[in-house]
Amino acid sequence: MTFTLPDLPYAYDALEPHIDAQTMEIHHSKHHQGYVNKLNAALEGTDYAEKSIEELLQSIDILPENIRTAVKNNGGGHRNHSFFRKIMSPEKTEPSEEFKKVIAGSFGGMDAFKKTFADVAAGVFGSGWAWVIKKHDDLEIVTTPNQNNPLMNGDRAVLGIDVWEHAYYLKHQNKRPDYIESFWNLINRDQVEENFTSKF
Ligand code: MN
Repeated sequence: MTFTLPDLPYAYDALEPHIDAQTMEIHHSKHHQGYVNKLNAALEGTDYAEKSIEELLQSIDILPENIRTAVKNNGGGHRNHSFFRKIMSPEKTEPSEEFKKVIAGSFGGMDAFKKTFADVAAGVFGSGWAWVIKKHDDLEIVTTPNQNNPLMNGDRAVLGIDVWEHAYYLKHQNKRPDYIESFWNLINRDQVEENFTSKF
């Protein structure tokens, strides 16, 4: 099996003005493609090329040392960016009443959730991600460095934001909180809820 770059589910300019088309194009066609290419190169000729990306990341600690770092960085990068594209949408969607109850139970309410998530994402030092993961039937906010994915810690993400500078610098420069605020307008609530209820 060879990993391939998934098409975006929308045009490069579909998330304007929140995320600009140039950032979207470079992020997809250069950064994400780069992770896919390097992942395939690392796995070429090994038995691990037959595994799913989820299986690879969940077993990252027991992968052979000669491919472990490459899979962590590039397999993580591939999985993170595939996830990130689907978690955003140009369509305005609203959370269901049922999911609002999950958010209320975990964070006290939507406003508190939004503030905590934004604060945690803004506070990631250097390059990394902020995630909302499912723990039992509740939600928790965690961060990962570099291209690490919660699957590497046995967790499952329902929402995540890329806070590498490449995700926002062209439009937002050093103002990461502005980018996080923009991202909030793009969250595909239907996809979040699907992630909460499905296996992956
Ligand atoms: Mn990225």
